[in-house]
Amino acid sequence: MMYKGQPASPGIIIGKIFVISKDIKFSKSEKIKASNVENEIKRLKQAIEKTKQDVLLIKEKIISDIGNKDAEIFDAYILFLNDRSFVEKISKIIREENVSVEYALQKLLEDYIKLFNNISNSYLKEKIVDIKSLFEKIAKNLSEESSELFPKKGKWVIVAQELSPADTAEMDKKNILGFITETGGVTSHTAIVARSLEIPAVVGLKNITQQVKKGDLVIMDGEKGIVIINPDTNTLEAYKKERLKYLIKIKLLKKLKKLDAVTLDKHKIILNSNIEFPEEVAVAKEHNADGIGLVRTEFIYINRTNLPTEEEQFLIYKSIVEKMAPKPVTIRTLDIGGDKFLPYFKISPEQNPFLGLRSIRLSLSNPSIFKTQLRAILRASAFGNVKIMFPMISTIEEFIEAKNIVNEVMEDLKKKKISFDEKINIGIMIEVPSAVIMAEELAKKADFFSIGTNDLIQYTLAVDRGNPNVAAYYNPLNPAVLRMIKKTVESAHKNFKHVSVCGEMAGEPHLAFLLLGLGVDELSVSPASILQVKRLIRNINFRDAFEVAETVLKFEKTEDIKEFILTRIKSYLLNK
Ligand code: PEP
Ligand code: MG
Repeated sequence: MMYKGQPASPGIIIGKIFVISKDIKFSKSEKIKASNVENEIKRLKQAIEKTKQDVLLIKEKIISDIGNKDAEIFDAYILFLNDRSFVEKISKIIREENVSVEYALQKLLEDYIKLFNNISNSYLKEKIVDIKSLFEKIAKNLSEESSELFPKKGKWVIVAQELSPADTAEMDKKNILGFITETGGVTSHTAIVARSLEIPAVVGLKNITQQVKKGDLVIMDGEKGIVIINPDTNTLEAYKKERLKYLIKIKLLKKLKKLDAVTLDKHKIILNSNIEFPEEVAVAKEHNADGIGLVRTEFIYINRTNLPTEEEQFLIYKSIVEKMAPKPVTIRTLDIGGDKFLPYFKISPEQNPFLGLRSIRLSLSNPSIFKTQLRAILRASAFGNVKIMFPMISTIEEFIEAKNIVNEVMEDLKKKKISFDEKINIGIMIEVPSAVIMAEELAKKADFFSIGTNDLIQYTLAVDRGNPNVAAYYNPLNPAVLRMIKKTVESAHKNFKHVSVCGEMAGEPHLAFLLLGLGVDELSVSPASILQVKRLIRNINFRDAFEVAETVLKFEKTEDIKEFILTRIKSYLLNK
């Protein structure tokens, strides 16, 4: 059976499927024989013991992966699991009502939900999410079929409805060959994480979790978005050859590691890396990136129960900055909202979160969180070359307000004689059409621009970047998008400011070629894309890129633009 989804992270793999099912089945058959009561209680105790071990492992893993010593929720889980009255409450339901442990668990959970619904303190009320998650872990451990939510040994291709940032942090990456998800587009969280970890992924494959079971053999081509379940021998053999070719290509790419991103006509292109997790700094360095063009600081805020302190943030930023010094590191302030949420910082429900209180808007409406982050970034700026970048600026006022807050924080640091880079560059992400339209005015006030094409495409074309139903409309080569980029570059250059592109578009070689032709000064791509973009740069003439961009800017249709560029690119890379 062959399926076609969105190609989210390249690579060809052949492996076995592991389905992650979040909807835990509590028991349908409630009644048990009286003689089975003690056995049910024994099952309960075993499941609790197993859950305790799981929780401890997850806690250790999160601490070592994210460096977050504050994985407190897991301590709370352990306390809960060790609480004798918890076991007694469930045992009592089993004994008195002659019901299965699954049924008793569900009943107790419902009681908790009712109880929490009556709590008025919204912070406490949210805690029910954690309790539910713990109950799910216990229920999963009761099931004989599979006691694992995520694989703990072996190598698997993960199939899931969707994967949250917390899920991907919790999984042990050494057990993962690939990701296949039902939701998500090329710029969804799963796709970005997969690319940064160099794990092949196909997303947006509706209902795939219903079509497969654990252990099914799967072929997956992350570059073409192809997924083949239980292939016949001929297909399998053909893909084994494809996989070999792919591995050779990767091996050749690795030879470019130490080389510079210079065009045939000797034009040096600034090729930076985005980072999503601190561990990626090492890959960026290994691939000789010119700097970090985007630090997505969200990783510091997720998978914990409270906000990170200034000191915690400072230590993380400082470590990245010192490792990269003297190369620049552009730190983006918190970009929460849209499809990224914090469990402990809830905003009131919104009909359109992507148009809601997200990103810089959230920072400006929570100045103390914003100031804590800015103090940490500014303090880290004393240890290398740091730039600050604000996401999703949509008005001049917003930028002025954000900069004023930076100035306030700077004044305070000066008073306290804490050192920082007083000349630090402050730039903005261009992600909203209004920012493009006001780009000339913004360029007078900002030190640099970085175009976030993931969002700019979604807002320009009114296409949700994570919705597979409209994925066909989400096209970086749409002429409207190209004209937006062109206008941004012209406005910045008129004011002698640099423009970078840090959206996923910059990591696709043929699109990177076009971006250079549109006059973009720097590219910032995921660590996994550095080498393929470098390969392209080393095989083109800079002036050809301009000529191609000039031609396609006159085209009206996306397809015409795509065809023209791909034909040109093929001729450059032929036999390379
Ligand atoms: C973008 O929107 O292009 C971008 C780089 O930001 P994010 O993907 O984190 O929204
Ligand atoms: Mg964005």
